[in-house]
Amino acid sequence: KLYNQVQDLKGSIRVYCRVRPFLPGQTSALTTVDHIEESTISIATPSKYGKEGRKSFTFNKVFGPSASQEAVFADTQPLIRSVLDGYNVCIFAYGQTGSGKTFTMMGPNELTEESLGVNYRALSDLFHLSKIRNSSQDGINVPDATLVPVSTTSDVISLMNLGQKNRAVSATAMNDRSSRSHSCLTVHVQGRDLTSGATLRGSMHLVDLAGSERVDKSEVTGDRLKEAQHINKSLSALGDVIASLSQKNNHIPYRNSKLTQLLQDSLGGQAKTLMFIHISPEVDTLGETLSTLKFAERVA
Ligand code: ADP
Ligand code: MG
Repeated sequence: KLYNQVQDLKGSIRVYCRVRPFLPGQTSALTTVDHIEESTISIATPSKYGKEGRKSFTFNKVFGPSASQEAVFADTQPLIRSVLDGYNVCIFAYGQTGSGKTFTMMGPNELTEESLGVNYRALSDLFHLSKIRNSSQDGINVPDATLVPVSTTSDVISLMNLGQKNRAVSATAMNDRSSRSHSCLTVHVQGRDLTSGATLRGSMHLVDLAGSERVDKSEVTGDRLKEAQHINKSLSALGDVIASLSQKNNHIPYRNSKLTQLLQDSLGGQAKTLMFIHISPEVDTLGETLSTLKFAERVA
């Protein structure tokens, strides 16, 4: 196999944590992030959140506020390349609204070459490595999903922009543009093992999850409330599945949400999963930050 440098990641679940920088204009901002190392993040907690002091969390990797998109991708690339060896790869962006999920996966609104996110870099890497030909259409089991053959990175970029426009976006008390939907880009790759001639089928799911903030905070009612509860339920179902996989349980509760049912074949077994969790640095988001870190600790 061409890309067997990733064999050590076989069937593994990895968790990366990324801390968003303060945004321009946040002048006298206070941070909850006490300390960041290669794979540890330590959060300062006032007594309101239990014992006053510091809480440390260890993941496979922690990216601080100044980490570039390029640096983040460098640690993601081996996983992406394993798709060409026939692996199924799932990459999730998890975190509260405003914590930087879309920035990691797509980039900022005004894209520059430097600020391109994981999606773009992953696709151009795959197109670069293989002489890709249009393949015939496979079956797809998502209502409202469209399967489109693509042959260049720019085909994919236009498709992604379209998908992004179609995402449900509504105003909530918490954020004027709160993402209330999961956005998933799936790529199927078929190749040939150069030594044995066997056909390899890999897939890659890049999932920008809906915001993980708790329902009450957004002060929503009616349909919006139902929707928010639905989102929270699907995120906790995802957490349950990944936690069961990492504990190597016999029963994996895929059936508890549409999201996990949909990704069943790509989670577990020989599949590789990367959970990017996102942290906002502001003190007033500490509650959500701690709940994100606890979610991640459970799946790590
Ligand atoms: P989310 O998708 O989690 O709601 P966004 O990705 O939209 O959050 O990020 C919120 C804001 O912060 C956006 O303006 C985005 O460009 C900016 N931002 C997020 N992460 C970073 C980062 N690592 N560096 C610079 N700006 C960032
Ligand atoms: Mg977003």
